[in-house]
Amino acid sequence: MTSGETADSQRVFRFAPSPNGHLHLGHAYSALLNFDLARQCGGRFLLRIEDIDTGRARNEFEAAIYEDLAWLGLEWEAPVRRQSEHFDDYARALERLDDKGLLYACDCRRSDIARAAVAKPNCPHDPDGAPLYPGTCRDKPRRGAREVLTQRGVALRLDMRKAAALAGQGLSWREFDAGDIVADPAEWGDVVLARKDTPASYHIAVVVDDALQGVTDVVRGKDLFEATSLHRLLQRLLDLPAPNYRHHGLVLDEKGEKLAKSVASTALRALRAEGWTPADVRARTGL
Ligand code: GLU
Repeated sequence: MTSGETADSQRVFRFAPSPNGHLHLGHAYSALLNFDLARQCGGRFLLRIEDIDTGRARNEFEAAIYEDLAWLGLEWEAPVRRQSEHFDDYARALERLDDKGLLYACDCRRSDIARAAVAKPNCPHDPDGAPLYPGTCRDKPRRGAREVLTQRGVALRLDMRKAAALAGQGLSWREFDAGDIVADPAEWGDVVLARKDTPASYHIAVVVDDALQGVTDVVRGKDLFEATSLHRLLQRLLDLPAPNYRHHGLVLDEKGEKLAKSVASTALRALRAEGWTPADVRARTGL
């Protein structure tokens, strides 16, 4: 047995792109690594389309994802899970958190939060660099999650102090090649988990989907390492199993910077048009 208690042939890997731009070399590396690891252990490889942000997701990018991954030589199971078809699953998870009294409605605008941060010396920031929410709406009279999500401009936030207290001690995850990592979800503060126009945040959708799809191994970029603390907290609060994690290095450009979807020159389709082969992609990404 490897990977915690999971037998090799039972392991489930996934690649979960957001269809808001074309895939680049960094995505290719992540997708190929997941695919290769699944093949090596005789496990399963799933593709999930993370299109919860309906304002930014585009059908043409989703179609391009299928085309680019097939060109790379990947095969995945059908049907593909598309997050936009599963808002009910995320609503149920939010209701469970709401029933435990862990969510509250927040009417603050981004500009209010930025102003409060400037006014507060040494205001703490989350791992992505955003100021932590100062808690302005935390103690206002409670409104149910269902009602909040019908109102424009109102967000549902997780009360981090209550959530961390309820989750208790010993929150950690198993990281490939690094052993057990202690989770520190408090560094994210009272995160937004939903709002009317995005009825599920990435954080709630990803933990619900990984559990519903039986994912045993989450293999994704290092840029999501810190988010795993929050994911472990949500998994514990929702009684979901803990996958094993492997946060891989990012593919960098010549200047040593992270690749961006907005830079067309590193898109797989641009490289393909220049004559690159899937073997060239594997060689460039070190696979
Ligand atoms: N959808 C995320 C992205 O495209 C990946 C999330 C994950 O692998 O957990 O960056």
